[in-house]
Amino acid sequence: MSLAAERMGRILPSQTIAITQKARALKAEGRDIISLSAGEPDFDTPDFIKKAAIEAIQRGETKYTDVAGTPALRKAVAERLNADFGLDYRPEEVCVSTGGKQVIYNAMVATLNAGDEVVIPAPAWVSYPDIVQLADGKPVIVPTSPEAGFRLTAEQLRKAITPRTRWLVLNSPCNPTGSAYSREELKALTDVLLEHPQVWILTDDIYAKLTYEGREACTVVQVEPRLRERTLTMNGVSKAYAMTGWRIGFSAAPVSLTKELIKLQGQSTSNACSIAQAAALAAVSGPQDFIGEMVAVYQKRRDLVVDALSAVPGLSCARPEGAFYVFVSVQQLLGKRTAGGHVLESDEDFVKAMLEEVGVAAVHGTAFLLPGYFRVSYATSTELLEEACRRIARFCEGLV
Ligand code: GLU
Repeated sequence: MSLAAERMGRILPSQTIAITQKARALKAEGRDIISLSAGEPDFDTPDFIKKAAIEAIQRGETKYTDVAGTPALRKAVAERLNADFGLDYRPEEVCVSTGGKQVIYNAMVATLNAGDEVVIPAPAWVSYPDIVQLADGKPVIVPTSPEAGFRLTAEQLRKAITPRTRWLVLNSPCNPTGSAYSREELKALTDVLLEHPQVWILTDDIYAKLTYEGREACTVVQVEPRLRERTLTMNGVSKAYAMTGWRIGFSAAPVSLTKELIKLQGQSTSNACSIAQAAALAAVSGPQDFIGEMVAVYQKRRDLVVDALSAVPGLSCARPEGAFYVFVSVQQLLGKRTAGGHVLESDEDFVKAMLEEVGVAAVHGTAFLLPGYFRVSYATSTELLEEACRRIARFCEGLV
């Protein structure tokens, strides 16, 4: 008899985490590795945020909080979302969780019955389909195309929805492509959603503050307030405030859903770490100008990576509107042999050989449900990015 439950057979280990851990382990062994695999800012958490956490410890804020988060943080999160997107969330509609991942997990486990469908445009972040499957749901993957800027079209959405559809998961700017929906593009989707009252929308806005050329990031409820009663607006401090390790994500959703999320969380992890909550409170209610400074740096790095990799024969990529990823096509290089003798039959072969032969770690497109690509995270120093791009070029130029 197998140790693992049947549901464990439905999921794979998170590939973003697996590859990042592998790169970390190789580095610890002394190998010269540049990791472009982790979706995590290289910036340190700002000092005023760290100070807030230290002061919370000193004040003795080391005890349980309300399951949904401290009243101060729930209020501050509602105010942040309202100020950023012109929304009208109330504190009782906010639930603070241990990272954005737990928000999604809670939402799916709390709402899906066996066989309920969740529409996920691909490429998509590795964990969405697996979380849906753990919750007994059925991911309905809708592949988008580079020609459409990796954006779901209204026509595709209309075709994907069935009477069993419970959720659409939207992620803009998107991990792994960096594509962001404009207001008009989002409106085309929300018009379709208005016709299907059984469908809820989970909008993962974790990268919303990271958009380039002054482009506006917009969210579902802002574009279509009539969908407010069936939308879960998800966000968190990990990416915009360089706070991945603190593990604070949050949802804003109607009280009917929020109550279920709190009930589930109360029977699993209870409140997110009290000290991390104090830090998150400082982050969302403190000065926000450092985010603009980080965004300016990310934009330069994006251009560096896109320019360098587009110049490599056989590679191609678009210039993304947001997040800190570039999704690079390797389709023209599949079937070739590397200088080290590996035959590249798939994008996974490509990233494995690249790691082994030139020490650059990246995540293959198949992990994000679109084969033939690899994802570069450019949330790393300019010097390392320049060196990584040189190595990738050398690797590709050595293919025969
Ligand atoms: N979201 C990040 C990534 O895509 C962090 C790792 C993870 O949780 O998947 O790399």
